[in-house]
Amino acid sequence: MKPKVGFFDFTGCEGCQLTVLNLERELLDLVELMEIVEFREISSDQGEALDIAFVEGSICSSAEIRRLKAIRARSRQLFALGACADTTGINALCTDRTPEQLVGEVYGTAVGDLRYRHPRPLEAFVKVDGRVPGCPIDGREFLAILQSLLIDRMPELPTYAVCAECKLLELPCTFERGVVCLGPLTRAGCDAHCIAEGDRCRGCRGQVDAPRSGPYYRILEEHGLSEEDILNELRIFNLSGEKRG
Ligand code: SF4
Ligand code: SF4
Repeated sequence: MKPKVGFFDFTGCEGCQLTVLNLERELLDLVELMEIVEFREISSDQGEALDIAFVEGSICSSAEIRRLKAIRARSRQLFALGACADTTGINALCTDRTPEQLVGEVYGTAVGDLRYRHPRPLEAFVKVDGRVPGCPIDGREFLAILQSLLIDRMPELPTYAVCAECKLLELPCTFERGVVCLGPLTRAGCDAHCIAEGDRCRGCRGQVDAPRSGPYYRILEEHGLSEEDILNELRIFNLSGEKRG
């Protein structure tokens, strides 16, 4: 029997699901090997047991927690799809204000209790078997992960940092411009995309498994940058307050 695969979304911009949908030709090639039984964007089937669930978005309410747990209960494997699901991504930028302040700013005082809570990543509530990193995810990497899962192999993500990719591509170091870069702390796999485009790494792929903060702080010092500079950068994708396993 073909493995059953489902896609689910919570709070996010749905850019990761769109990346999957844009792979339609490649996905059609894989249809012989799997059955997509749930994908809100293209299907209305619901409630079946699943072999693999890909879940996009952060969790922001009690109703979302209940729904996520129900998806987990019927899925053999559950993967976080993109930064919102994996690290809370840019959704965590709002955690400097209380849920009440945020609801008031957006909806005013006329609305009742929206039961909104600060966004959290999936693994704050359920076991997560793996992740497809990035904001948005990389389509080629998603396909490689899916192909591994379809042959019952656990996919492996790079264990080294974006900084190493930069060196391999002989890109000039962003720190030389006096700008904080999260490349030394961030999981590789994007071919140092933003740095190659003249920007800096903001950490959208989440932190590498064992970040070496000692040498990183030395680099900061050498370039006259402070802890606050790096915290400001980390806040963009990696400061949801969760401890990562
Ligand atoms: S990770 Fe980025 S692209 Fe994906 S849903 Fe979140 S904000 Fe959108
Ligand atoms: S360089 Fe950094 S921010 Fe840019 S895609 Fe890679 S991990 Fe994400």
